[in-house]
Amino acid sequence: MVALTSEQLKRLIETLANTVIAETERLTALDQAIGDGDHGLNMKRGFEAVLADLDGLSRKPLPDAVKAIGTHLVMKVGGASGPLYGSLFLTLGKELPAEPGLAEFATAFDAAFAAVKARGKSDVGQKTMLDVLGPVRDALAAASPDPLLGDRIKRVATEAAEATVNMKAIRGRASFLGERSIGHMDPGACSSALMISAVIDCLES
Ligand code: ADP
Ligand code: MG
Ligand code: MG
Repeated sequence: MVALTSEQLKRLIETLANTVIAETERLTALDQAIGDGDHGLNMKRGFEAVLADLDGLSRKPLPDAVKAIGTHLVMKVGGASGPLYGSLFLTLGKELPAEPGLAEFATAFDAAFAAVKARGKSDVGQKTMLDVLGPVRDALAAASPDPLLGDRIKRVATEAAEATVNMKAIRGRASFLGERSIGHMDPGACSSALMISAVIDCLES
């Protein structure tokens, strides 16, 4: 299904990185409300490293490129989210075949989601990025190829991020606030939804 040329892979990686970088201030503001205010800059630093390696990354087969993005994120993002997003991309790259169909993508995403849970010792329902990654994992697992699938997954991701507003944080720095974490979107849930939407928009354009 997704047999990307290196030009398409380059555009995909570039769009993903630029989308995250463009939202630095929004991610910063969310993390200022319930964390330490660095999520925007952490993600920006990671994706600037990805952009700096854009030519090298886009010459690789898809699985290797995705793994290499994970390595950049592990090395550059820092904080709690660096190792977690690193695990997501490293596992996704490890599990994806070179030309994944929907079923292979769903299987790889399931493994990547499990890797983030294991790394974070966390699960859905704790007001973290897992509250977006989990519903997206479920939607992919239940999906069949359909022209509206991309829109549906984007809606799942966006609504799942919104749903973290009313949750109480049980993992990560926001958990230090207890009840006061309620009323703000989780920064990592927001960045996860942004990345998922950016990838879908680019694959569909
Ligand atoms: P830090 O909290 O170390 O400053 P960031 O601000 O970059 O790191 O990332 C914070 C985000 O990481 C949170 O909004 C949350 O989504 C995610 N997160 C933190 N801890 C965990 C965890 N144990 N499991 C899953 N996600 C987590
Ligand atoms: Mg932070
Ligand atoms: Mg921090």
